[in-house]
Amino acid sequence: QTKAVLARFQYYSQELNTRLAEKVDLERLLKEAVDAGQFAMHYQPKVDLCTGQIAGAEALIRWQHPQLGMVAPDRFIPLAEETGLIVPIGDWVIRAVCAQLARWRDDGQRIVPVALNLSALQFREGNVLQTIAASLKEHGLDPRWLEVELTETLVMYDPQAAQQTMRNFGDLGLRISLDDFGTGYSSLAYLKRFPFQYVKIDRAFVTDITQNPDDAAIATAIIAMAHSLRMGVIAEGVETEAQMQFLRSRRCDYLQGFYFSRPVPAAEFNAMVQEGRQL
Ligand code: C2E
Ligand code: CA
Ligand code: CA
Ligand code: CA
Repeated sequence: QTKAVLARFQYYSQELNTRLAEKVDLERLLKEAVDAGQFAMHYQPKVDLCTGQIAGAEALIRWQHPQLGMVAPDRFIPLAEETGLIVPIGDWVIRAVCAQLARWRDDGQRIVPVALNLSALQFREGNVLQTIAASLKEHGLDPRWLEVELTETLVMYDPQAAQQTMRNFGDLGLRISLDDFGTGYSSLAYLKRFPFQYVKIDRAFVTDITQNPDDAAIATAIIAMAHSLRMGVIAEGVETEAQMQFLRSRRCDYLQGFYFSRPVPAAEFNAMVQEGRQL
């Protein structure tokens, strides 16, 4: 019996070692990735449910490693947060998005506001506001072209500090979305103390919205309450026509999801905007 336990222990620690080694490797590779130019931004349209037109985009990072291939953000963003690498990576994201917007503008393209995701560590410790302000100034970009998405968990970690930082964002002229709403434990009524312009309903409530009465009720309530608090609502993860119709019938303002488009490279996104692609 002892033998069996030992064998199992060895097996587990071996597995753990492999996982640790993998993590160390990934961390080392992640460190090199910014300088090696292995990151790119993809853009996913946000569609206005009234006009059917693209009203904005969410910028999502992609890591293309020469050997590993495409590494999903869910695999490396948590590691980047843990190791602090999210600060230089996040700075790169800010500069990349500003540079892209400026390039489109300089080419005479129609542009739409682009939202970027901010991590807790970036929001708390980095001088993210200065980075954003400097990047906008460098490219002569109006702040209204840039938006930020903050999660409920990030805001609730230190509500007072978050409130102040968010006011500073607002003073700069940036609009703020409350990301992944409904996955945390706070109420919209409470969150109204913070200067959000948009609420994003998490995909978890959208997926079964047409089958699950609870999800339908939650989404409907979020939309109604956000509107009564003068906030716009974006539904994430919309994949079907039925979900779209439901959200439209509940007066949701914007949708984002594979139903309209996956996140795509910059050139592809720009083409969609220029041709005026409709829902
Ligand atoms: P998120 O902010 O909730 O972003 C939405 C995620 O949902 C994206 O995954 C997007 O590709 C995916 N998605 C969009 N529409 C659909 C749909 O219809 N169905 C399904 N199944 N999924 C959909 P992605 O790009 O893999 O990013 C995952 C997470 O990684 C993001 O979640 C965000 O938390 C983080 N992330 C991505 N880019 C950045 C970044 O530049 N900075 C930071 N700090 N975090 C980022
Ligand atoms: Ca987001
Ligand atoms: Ca989200
Ligand atoms: Ca989400």
